[in-house]
Amino acid sequence: MNLDFTPEQEAFAAEARAWLAENVPTERLASMDTAEGFEQHREWERTLASGNWSVVSWPAEYGGREVGITEWVIFEEEYYRSGAPTRVAQNGISLLAPIVFEHGTPEQKAKYLPLMSNGTEIWAQAWSEPGAGSDLAAIRATATRDDARGGWLLNGQKIWSSRAVWADRGFGLFRSDPEAQRHRGLTYFLFPMDAPGITVRAIEQLDGSTGFAEVFFDDVFVPDEDVLGAPGDGWNVAMSTAGNERGLSLRAPGRFLAPVDRLIDLWDERGESEPSARDAVVDSWIGAEAYKLFTWQTVSRLLQGGDVGAEGSINKVFWSELDIHIHETALRLLGPEAELIGDGAPVGGKWAEDYLFALAGPIYAGTNEIQRNIIAERILGLPRGDRRKA
Ligand SMILES: Cc1cc2nc3c(=O)[nH]c(=O)nc-3n(C[C@H](O)[C@H](O)[C@H](O)COP(=O)(O)OP(=O)(O)OC[C@H]3O[C@@H](n4cnc5c(N)ncnc54)[C@H](O)[C@@H]3O)c2cc1C
Repeated sequence: MNLDFTPEQEAFAAEARAWLAENVPTERLASMDTAEGFEQHREWERTLASGNWSVVSWPAEYGGREVGITEWVIFEEEYYRSGAPTRVAQNGISLLAPIVFEHGTPEQKAKYLPLMSNGTEIWAQAWSEPGAGSDLAAIRATATRDDARGGWLLNGQKIWSSRAVWADRGFGLFRSDPEAQRHRGLTYFLFPMDAPGITVRAIEQLDGSTGFAEVFFDDVFVPDEDVLGAPGDGWNVAMSTAGNERGLSLRAPGRFLAPVDRLIDLWDERGESEPSARDAVVDSWIGAEAYKLFTWQTVSRLLQGGDVGAEGSINKVFWSELDIHIHETALRLLGPEAELIGDGAPVGGKWAEDYLFALAGPIYAGTNEIQRNIIAERILGLPRGDRRKA
């Protein structure tokens, strides 16, 4: 097995590293779950796009460099190692764009992808509803035909939509055929967040930030041209997004290799005061390396024409639990200082802030309980358990 990169890939990595060293902001940006931080992160998206680094694997006409998935993983490793900010455009780029590439019309691609890749339009995911989270097929928000205007009227409520308060556009699933079975009769829509009839209500979190929102739809008109995929086929369209989210595109290994490097530095600084954390530091390193190798295995499978498949669920459980482990270990090493945030805290409170976000990992992108159901049934071939709602 040869895990070495080609000279071209090495050159690509070096180019990315040099650009990032030159351009990554030296000051930490405010949290992107605040109005100020959201705009700072949008500005960073623009800078990334100006260097042609925002969507490296996309076609050039949409802002990409047309490199393969191997180079994408290489870029992500360089990105996180450089300490670059979290991507506020991620919902659009990682969750929606793969679906637009697969199911979108040429007009939809031309209209949405360039503005997505250069940070002009940030997208919010509007899937979850009260009563339809894990059980997404229980969606009740409706889409009814408006033949006179050539489109649909959306009604209902969505919840937990990340940064919908500031986002420019949204993508969501609505029930377009109330008579059809649960998984059928759903349609996938694209809409501007300031469309008449949309009300966005922020959900304030314990730290005061408003990174989540409820989104209410009251006769929101969406023209036919903004239906993604065929009407009634929204479940299949959405599931290709879900596969991407948990399979590969949401969490490249670089995302965990970089904090593990920082964790080892922290161990060098503070290990003497908490020697019992040694095994946990080593476990974190092993976990990140294992995740890297598992990802390369997935990349090889994809390059040979395979797909992410149900293995994406193993991935999701692994990275989300690894993330928590890395951050818990850092907090152990920080001792009482772990609880500080803001000025005066170690690295401005980044460990504590990232720990809180890591705790959400087992919930978003399909909860880990649901992933374990998938692993049990589809990979291990165990019998299906009782479903609360059949
Ligand atoms: C950080 C973060 C960002 C998010 N961003 C978005 C976003 O941008 N857009 C969006 O639409 N949503 C978003 N979500 C919502 C997320 O998709 C839901 O929270 C998730 O799908 C779970 O749904 P729920 O919260 O309704 O919990 P429920 O589905 O009610 O689950 C509650 C508990 O029951 C368990 N459970 C449920 N069913 C089963 C079962 N069959 N077997 C075993 N256990 C089960 C779950 O695992 C969980 O522990 C986000 C969530 C988080 C934490």
